[in-house]
Order: sequence, then structure tokens, then C-alpha cells
Amino acid sequence: MTVLTENTYKPLTNEDAAALVRKLKLIDGHDLAVSEIGDGNLNLVFRVQSSTESIIVKQALPYAKVVGESWPLTLDRARIESEALILAAKYVPDLVPKVLYSDSTLAVTIMEDLSDHSILRKSLIEGTAFSKLAAHIGQFTARTAFYTSDFYLHPFEKKKLVQHFSNPELCKITEDLVFTDPFFDHDTNEFSSALKPDVEKIWNDELLKKEAATLKYQFLTQAEVLLHGDLHTGSIFVTEKSTKVIDPEFAFYGPIGFDLGQFFANIALNYLSQHHHSSEPFNRKETQETLLTVIQETWTVFQNEFTRLVHEESKEVFARTPGVLQNVLEKTFIDSVGFAGCEIIRRTIGLAHVADLDSIPCEDVQLFLKKKALHLGTSLIKSRKSISSIEQFTSIIRGA
Ligand code: ADP
Ligand code: MG
Ligand code: MG
Ligand code: MG
Repeated sequence: MTVLTENTYKPLTNEDAAALVRKLKLIDGHDLAVSEIGDGNLNLVFRVQSSTESIIVKQALPYAKVVGESWPLTLDRARIESEALILAAKYVPDLVPKVLYSDSTLAVTIMEDLSDHSILRKSLIEGTAFSKLAAHIGQFTARTAFYTSDFYLHPFEKKKLVQHFSNPELCKITEDLVFTDPFFDHDTNEFSSALKPDVEKIWNDELLKKEAATLKYQFLTQAEVLLHGDLHTGSIFVTEKSTKVIDPEFAFYGPIGFDLGQFFANIALNYLSQHHHSSEPFNRKETQETLLTVIQETWTVFQNEFTRLVHEESKEVFARTPGVLQNVLEKTFIDSVGFAGCEIIRRTIGLAHVADLDSIPCEDVQLFLKKKALHLGTSLIKSRKSISSIEQFTSIIRGA
């Protein structure tokens, strides 16, 4: 089996994926069925099945699948992804898929099959709520942040991890697509001509651009904690009882509020997409309120868990000095609101949209909601420093 004996990279075929799983003896049985199930933008995802078991083989391609070979992209993202999953498993073992094997030359991560879960974005579009979601994402963000921060790690150990998770090519995608291109007339942007006047308002809003630049600068420079880096609702698998965060190939050391902000933004976009149709106003309203509760509870759980960990496990001598933790939490909150604003704008007019808005069949409704989204994103970025509580944040979303 060439793929296993040569120490070189090649994109796997279905047969290669089966041979790899067979060779590693990861599942029993010889008649393995393989299908490529990836719906993401960047990578190959194979499900390899015997009659009794199944397993997932994810492989990075040397380019971005969504664009093709004209957009080369480092294979190192597969190493980052498997190592971020393995590190997260130390602190939130129930909230990530188990990694069974990884090979940085082949750019492969083999992990547990989570096909009994659904992708959160899809479920939210269908109107399903998940009662454990907020607690789980609050725990995930708090625990992965604390245990990779200077509150917990020796400064040598932390700086080693910062180097280890240096991820310049994937960060550049975020720097361009989230923090830059949507604020300029750039050819990666995508929006209907009917939205152009609202988009031009963004391009001409110098105060907004100054604030977006500040948030970009923070993203570029603040190595606070190891982030997931791509925590939108397509990176979260759910059932009623279980939550699994997948796809951390954008992991890097950045500002704590970034993951929270991306999560909040994607919940807010789904909130907007639950448009009040006159035939069912009550249902939608209830679904929308549940979504705002998810944002509030996620923040509350994050804050409580991070606080508890700092009080109980921090090695930083200033950790108990009055005001120190509070400053970090206040900064994180304000950042998360600003990052959410950037994510809302880029998902509306940038390169990668969200199905929540784009799958709405009526173009007029889409346009109406996208105008709201741009307005909401703009005001979150500009007024983030005067938003002092999570309730105030969610009431701004409610008022959008
Ligand atoms: P990409 O980096 O290309 O976005 P993802 O890791 O998000 O790849 O995976 C793309 C899709 O493949 C997911 O939306 C999901 O449908 C499927 N998938 C990924 N990991 C698993 C898994 N562990 N179990 C089951 N399906 C998975
Ligand atoms: Mg993905
Ligand atoms: Mg996906
Ligand atoms: Mg990905």
C-alpha cells in the first residue's frame, strides 16, 4: 500500500482511506465501505465503515477545496488540528472527538465518527434547540482558555505552546476575510447589488473602519490563549445531551474573546434568520428568545468557570489581587462583542456566507435581514465599549 510505505504526501482515494484504516487495525472487518462526506470548504472527510463500526479520516489538501489549486494552503493545518484536539481532550474530554491516529506527513487525522450528532447550524436552521449547548460551549471556551493561559502555565511552557501553534497561513485567511476585505471594495466580497448602498456605508464609515482595525490589531498581536479559531455553528456537532467541537485547524494563540465572539455572531445570525412570518409569529419569537438565552448562558458559564479556575488553580501571583481578573473578563467581554460584529458583517458580505441567511428563499426577506445584519454588526463594533452586560448585548440583538 504505497500510501503507507512512502514517507510522502498524497491525497487519499476512498481505497487509500480504507487501506490506512485496515493497516492501522482501527476497525475490525475486511469489507470496508468508504464515502467522502466533507461539506466543509477546505478538506477531505472520509467515513470508513465495516458492518459494525465506523471511523472518520480527515485529510488536508495542499490547497483550499472551495477555491481549488489556485489557492495553496499549508498541510501543517492538519498537525495543528489533531494537536489542538488532543490538547483540548485533556481539559474538555467530553466536548471534542477522540483522535485515534494522526500523521502530519499525510496530513491526516483519524477520529471517532460523530454521525449520530448533527451540525449545529443545520439544526438551528430547522428550529431545534439544545438545552446543554450553552453550558458546554461556556465550559469549552473557559477551560481551553484558562489551561493555555499565563494564569495557569509557566511562562516558558506557554511561550513554547505559542510557537507550536503558530499558524500564519490560516490566521491570514481570518485577517483578510474577517477583519479586512469586508471593510473595503475588495474582490473577495459577495453581495447582491440591492445591498450595495448599505455596503458602501460600511466602506465609507471611517469610525467603523478605525474600530475594525483595532480589533484586527488585537487579533494580530494578542497571544493570550490557545483559540479554536473557527468556532462558528458549522464547527459544532450536537445532540440533545452531547456537544462536540470539531475542526480546530485555525487554532492559534490569540485574544480570549475571539472564539466567544464568533459563536455569538453565528447564533445572532441564526436569530435574525428566524424571521417573523405572519403565519407563525409566536413560534419564531420563542425560538429567538431561546437563542438569546444561549448567548447569555454561554457567557455566564464562561465567566463563572474561568473565575473558578483562576481562584482555584492559578499560579500567577497577581491572580487574587482585586480587580485583576475583573479587568481580563471585562476586556474579554468587550472584545467578544466587537469580534461578533466583524463576524456578522463578513458572513453577510464577505467570501463565506452562512446558510442561515442565504437559504432563505424570498430575496426581499434576505435583503431585509442582511441590511439588519450589517446594521447590527456595525453597532456592535462601534459601541462595544459602552455595552456593560450580556443582557445589554442580547437586547441590542433583539432590537436589530
Ligand atoms: P472542514 O475543515 O473542511 O470544514 P470539517 O472538520 O468541518 O471540515 O468537516 C466537514 C464535515 O465532515 C462536517 O460538517 C461533518 O459533516 C463531517 N465530519 C467531520 N468530522 C466528523 C466526525 N468526527 N464525525 C462525523 N462527521 C464528521
Ligand atoms: Mg469545518
Ligand atoms: Mg463543515
Ligand atoms: Mg475547517
